[in-house]
Amino acid sequence: MKILIADDMEGISGVVDWGHVDSKNDEYQRFRRIMTAEVNSAVAGAFAGGADEVVVSDGHGGAKNVMIENLDPRARLNTGAPSEFQMISGIDKGVNGLIFIGYHPRYGTLKGVLAHTWSLGVVNLWLNDRVVGEIGLNSSVAGHFGVPLIMISSDQAGCNEAAAFVPGVETVAVKQGTGTFAAECLPPEVSHELIRETAQKAVKNLIKGISPAPVKTSTPVVVKVELNNAQQADRAMTTPAAVRVDGRTVQVEVPDMVEAYRAFRTIVGLAGPNF
Ligand SMILES: [Zn+2]
Repeated sequence: MKILIADDMEGISGVVDWGHVDSKNDEYQRFRRIMTAEVNSAVAGAFAGGADEVVVSDGHGGAKNVMIENLDPRARLNTGAPSEFQMISGIDKGVNGLIFIGYHPRYGTLKGVLAHTWSLGVVNLWLNDRVVGEIGLNSSVAGHFGVPLIMISSDQAGCNEAAAFVPGVETVAVKQGTGTFAAECLPPEVSHELIRETAQKAVKNLIKGISPAPVKTSTPVVVKVELNNAQQADRAMTTPAAVRVDGRTVQVEVPDMVEAYRAFRTIVGLAGPNF
């Protein structure tokens, strides 16, 4: 029973500001410590639930946030970027279940703390006409490998987004957003215990065969990306086989979700920042 724990930082309890997740900001060191502890809580719960192998994929920014010196010694850490599967690095290596820790809602979500979709350069992303954020995108790539999303910790809006995309997924809301940059947050002592208990339950259910099904995406996959402005879309049009949908929107059709992940990252990378 191998579990992949994919983390991000915006959905960690206490985080309500870009400065909290920016390694150049003094506050960052506090929140990466809390993030590592939230990850450790999921690791402990996964093992308690019956996992015999747990790999952590660091997913925020350059994927160098989890403090390895504080990581549960039973886990392994995928860190650094870029890598083939980036936010879910290791998903192709015989994983049975996926857990998201510290995830956040997609761009434009009401009361979604630091809500965005991959980068601040992206407005919307659609997979086959279904709008998704990072929760939908990464769980769909996992689905390509037959891996179900069994649990998420996030703010309340992120938990709602996950439950709508993956019915039956276990959720832990570590904060209730009251705005994009405001939330009512659980203290770490409380959020850690909730994450540990829920991860244990999610892995137990996976072993019992009563977990959510892996996300299925019909193929070929149309990846459509709405950018902030037309000059970003101009730049993104050097993506092979790209079609211009409108001034700010570019799409490509690719054979499967692995290629969709590549295509999305290519479009975002070529589009560059909002100017
Ligand atoms: Zn992030």
